Amino acid sequence: MERSKMILPDHEIIEECRDVCRATVGVYVLTSCYGCQLVMATVQKIMEIANLVDFKCFYMVSSKSSMHEPVDIAFVEGSVSTEKDLEELKEVRKNAKVLVAIGACAVNGGVQSWSEGDLNYDELYASVYGDSKIKYKGLQAAPIDSYVKVDYFLPGCPPEEDEIMYFLSTFLFGSYPEEIDYPVCAECRLEGNPCILIESDAPCLGPITVAGCKARCPSFGVPCIGCRGPVPHDNSWFDSLALIFRNKGYSKDYIRERMKIFCSFDKNLEERLEKVFGRKK
Ligand code: SF4
Ligand code: SF4
Ligand code: SF4
Repeated sequence: MERSKMILPDHEIIEECRDVCRATVGVYVLTSCYGCQLVMATVQKIMEIANLVDFKCFYMVSSKSSMHEPVDIAFVEGSVSTEKDLEELKEVRKNAKVLVAIGACAVNGGVQSWSEGDLNYDELYASVYGDSKIKYKGLQAAPIDSYVKVDYFLPGCPPEEDEIMYFLSTFLFGSYPEEIDYPVCAECRLEGNPCILIESDAPCLGPITVAGCKARCPSFGVPCIGCRGPVPHDNSWFDSLALIFRNKGYSKDYIRERMKIFCSFDKNLEERLEKVFGRKK
């Protein structure tokens, strides 16, 4: 499914949400570490809007949750990694007016999708489970928009608290969340950090990773590993970054592996690598 077609706001849906006195919200989990919903459950500011929201499904905070009820806004965490995930995702989509993919697993497949395009999934599966009888068949981990229409994408591993509040608030105001289309480097500069890529040759993926985390890792001297996924609309500085990596002696395979940790579903990766490594120095 083509992502750019899905991030356009559906005003009719949003208007409908605004008319509801208390927006009904569901938080659903597929294959994941539960980290995104843990952040959601502990966002203190949610208390400030608690009387505007009715959580119909949020198993981490209430055992009275039901995933079978209709909701205005559904937040889905995790990648589709089993047939059960897929069944549940389809039901959530059917019941939700607005569906938000929350976190790197739901948005880009997450680290569990790392083998995509490299290794044979059935062979991997057999090497782990052998002939064991497993109730729900496993599937190669994939972002949720591989299977259903997603209205909005909230990246991060996990997303930042203020972004969660931003998403929820815009829906409650009858508006919609705007996409970030600039890289981590922009925030890194604002934080006043020295550039560890230029100054220390650290393989930082900040130039091609979508901002929003306030350059969390480079602020501690740790190179960005791309957990928030690629900057949308091909707005990234991939060529110049890959060229810097190349000039610093990193190989094509090294760059590919590093970029695939969170973004193995980035279909443009090979083409872009070829642009840099396919030409003579
Ligand atoms: S995106 Fe990160 S924090 Fe969220 S569920 Fe996946 S691994 Fe956990
Ligand atoms: S490459 Fe890394 S360290 Fe340098 S500005 Fe960008 S995010 Fe910061
Ligand atoms: S700096 Fe990079 S790896 Fe670290 S939180 Fe931000 S996007 Fe993720």
